[in-house]
Amino acid sequence: MDQIGIAVIGLGWMGRVHTQAYLRLPQHYPDLPVPKLIAVADDVPDRAARAAARFGFAAATTDWRALLDDPRIGAVSITAPNFLHREIGAAFAATGRHLWIEKPVGLSADDARAVAGDGRIAVGFNYRHAPAVQKARAILRYGGIGAITHARFAFLSDYASAPDGALTWRFQRARGGNGVLGDLGSHAVDLVRHLLGEIDAVVAADTAIFLPRRPAPSGATTGHERGAGPLREVENEDWFAALLRVGDARVTVEASRVATGEQNHYGFEIHGTSGMLSWDFRRMGELLVDGRPVFAGPGDGEFGAFQPGPANAMSFDDLKVIEAALFLRSIVEGVPHGATLTDAIRAAEVLSEIAGRAGPGSGTARSAR
Ligand code: NAD
Repeated sequence: MDQIGIAVIGLGWMGRVHTQAYLRLPQHYPDLPVPKLIAVADDVPDRAARAAARFGFAAATTDWRALLDDPRIGAVSITAPNFLHREIGAAFAATGRHLWIEKPVGLSADDARAVAGDGRIAVGFNYRHAPAVQKARAILRYGGIGAITHARFAFLSDYASAPDGALTWRFQRARGGNGVLGDLGSHAVDLVRHLLGEIDAVVAADTAIFLPRRPAPSGATTGHERGAGPLREVENEDWFAALLRVGDARVTVEASRVATGEQNHYGFEIHGTSGMLSWDFRRMGELLVDGRPVFAGPGDGEFGAFQPGPANAMSFDDLKVIEAALFLRSIVEGVPHGATLTDAIRAAEVLSEIAGRAGPGSGTARSAR
């Protein structure tokens, strides 16, 4: 296979990042099939057409169904909002297409299960691809910090802290699912599983909605614009924390979209009987081992496809190039590389258990402001 035809459905932030990852793939991974941008779909008039002109897709449409029978398309990126993952994913999976689908894959574990098909399915849990995270995984695998005793995983952001931030699909249960649980919590749960192993139990949990109302958007949104419409109810969680068991280890997980003053404070601290590892996405190439920085370099995950020596900085978009490469490698080799649908299903199951264990009144909108 020398090349593979690509469709991208939903051209917001992730649609752009997937598209740019496909375009950069041959520069970093010349041995993989070359992605050919066949078609882009977005239901906002002009958004797909502008993306086609900007990135070089051969065709643009406002109706993704028009692409189901296009024989030129071998793989599909599904980067539309969460409530569409199941419908779009299941429809393309039924045609045997390979899918690169964004997390959390629908609104629930059942939605994720419905996307299964005969093609390869890669899921957008990009943080696990950071070379320093891969270095941590390798250290953990050879017992480099002894037996794990306890660990903290936190995904804290303030992207929804502004009270006048528009009530986009992310804040509605029918379109965004369980709020920050699926949004940032799914990444955190995936990292716990990837680094420490399967989650055996949810011991305790709580959730909260701190900003119960937001203004409706005044037009089509992408990202986190201010809203100017009437105030509407926020229907899903702003914050959660949970205590998990992974084997004998005690693990806490916390995620917030209203952590005022925090931007992309994503990472972990893992304690073992003979050492400690910690990582912060904002210093992506740096793994702290017993508090001392060790920089990722060639030999750590896919670092070598980007830079020749350690401590050269990589970017968020590079993680998506890695994800695209693992997706295409799994298609070529017929075996999974990177996060799969099973990882998405398992994350959704754990998050649903966390939501179910939340304390009394946690689903009720409450405001501290
Ligand atoms: P976004 O709002 O920026 O973009 C979504 C796009 O989908 C918009 O352009 C919208 O017009 C389009 N869309 C809506 N309905 C459509 C339809 N019926 N057909 C075609 N297109 C349609 O959102 P985003 O931030 O790009 O998030 C998209 C997905 O990516 C979500 O599932 C989200 O959870 C995930 N995401 C993942 C990461 C990550 O780090 N892996 C980061 C952000 C978002």
